[in-house]
Amino acid sequence: MNIRYDWTLEELEMLYHLPLLELISTSNQLHNKYHEPSEVQVCSLISIKTGGCPEDCKYCAQSSRYQTAVSATPLMSYEAVLNEAKKSS
Ligand code: SF4
Repeated sequence: MNIRYDWTLEELEMLYHLPLLELISTSNQLHNKYHEPSEVQVCSLISIKTGGCPEDCKYCAQSSRYQTAVSATPLMSYEAVLNEAKKSS
């Protein structure tokens, strides 16, 4: 099976209705075909403005518009963010 972007609705419905273990097995085979199975991609997040954002996106804990037990911290400097990124790579 090759990577595709032209799935039809019927094909997606067929995948959706596959037995779970068959779906897991097929997924694993495809993953191993395109990725080194022993490697894991690691990503990390840092909060660069904890509780200090002036926006209010409702779902986000970084907004300064809510009273919480977490103390707000100022926006991290560009250099500090860059240094944290370098530690992760
Ligand atoms: S998602 Fe959070 S950090 Fe981003 S703008 Fe909205 S409130 Fe601010």
